[in-house]
Amino acid sequence: MRNGFGTRAIHAGQSPDPSTGAIMTPVYLTSTYVQEAPAKHKGYVYARGDNPTRRALEACLADLEGGTRCVATSSGLAAATIVLTDLGAGTRVVAGDDLYGGTRRLFERVFRRWGVAADYVDSSDLDALRAALDAGPTSLVWLETPTNPLLKVTDLRAACDLARARGAPVLVDNTFASPYLQRPLESGADIVLHSLTKYLGGHSDLVGGALVVRDAARAERYAFLANATGPVPGPLDCFLVLRGLKTLHVRMERHCDNAEAVVAFLRGHPKVRRVFHPSLPDQPGHAVARRQMARFGAMVSVEIDGSVEHAKRFASATKLFALAESLGGVESLIEHPATMTHASVPAEERRRAGFLDGLLRLSVGIEDADDLVADLDGAFQATYR
Ligand SMILES: *Cc1c(COP(=O)(O)O)cnc(C)c1O
Repeated sequence: MRNGFGTRAIHAGQSPDPSTGAIMTPVYLTSTYVQEAPAKHKGYVYARGDNPTRRALEACLADLEGGTRCVATSSGLAAATIVLTDLGAGTRVVAGDDLYGGTRRLFERVFRRWGVAADYVDSSDLDALRAALDAGPTSLVWLETPTNPLLKVTDLRAACDLARARGAPVLVDNTFASPYLQRPLESGADIVLHSLTKYLGGHSDLVGGALVVRDAARAERYAFLANATGPVPGPLDCFLVLRGLKTLHVRMERHCDNAEAVVAFLRGHPKVRRVFHPSLPDQPGHAVARRQMARFGAMVSVEIDGSVEHAKRFASATKLFALAESLGGVESLIEHPATMTHASVPAEERRRAGFLDGLLRLSVGIEDADDLVADLDGAFQATYR
């Protein structure tokens, strides 16, 4: 029988070092590997191509996502770059309209020039997704669920069925959920993309990315591109992600507990207009999230009373929730998407995707829930004083 998620998060792809018995995978700080005779080696030639610490991380991630192979990269956007480079000119991506801002920038300001067109659609609306797929040949469907920053939920199985019927592979950026909460390959997706910078690293101390796939030919192409174009992760970063993965299941449970406490507080607060979180029964994607996620995640967005100025004041008034971009670390963060993470998305498109300039986004950490709620309470008092 297959071991459970927590056991695999700690052990998959890792065994004690054969030469010393070291229980932890060593950080192989080396650029090259000595060969016994020309082209006679132990499977490692040069460190851009492969590294044992990286290999352990890739094996662990492939296992946790239910894939056959993983290619780790120097950042989440490096992973995205490999996928788009593989597509090449004359292709069209149908992508969610509420994507991570940097992914959107990569589509619009880099790959459009190289002939990769992107059409955006609210993928939580399956009729709209079907229409977008039928509007032209589709080379790839690019989904995020829950989305950023509106926490909209796409039905992965239904979306993958629509794409497969039209011969289009599906990529899911699973950064917000992590494989502990959601495994897109099990719903029919072909590619999972991660920013390891977020929950998988989990401690806000590195930047990294990964692609996990099932198909061997696709894996070969991505591994080739990683080596040929060079955005590979260093061994110390790989070690740090391996260390983070060992507590992923424990951290995610606490992240979700705390997010639920924060959501309950915000929902009851008189200065709150609207809370965005998939746990809320009045959120359109709630039923789908309940089906396809183990829990609802720890990203929460909120609209508070007043103007953009009130939102900015609030974001500067929290003490435990640090004002910073990024997410998924053990510490709580707050940010203002319109001027921070999503500033590169044109205002008109932000509005079309459905978010107001006053929106705030929280990454709820694993501190004590009472302290987090008290911090938010204090920020309301400071904002409306
Ligand atoms: C951060 C993030 C990325 C980009 O990852 P980097 O590691 O910062 O390059 C992509 N997608 C999502 C959902 C993210 O949150």
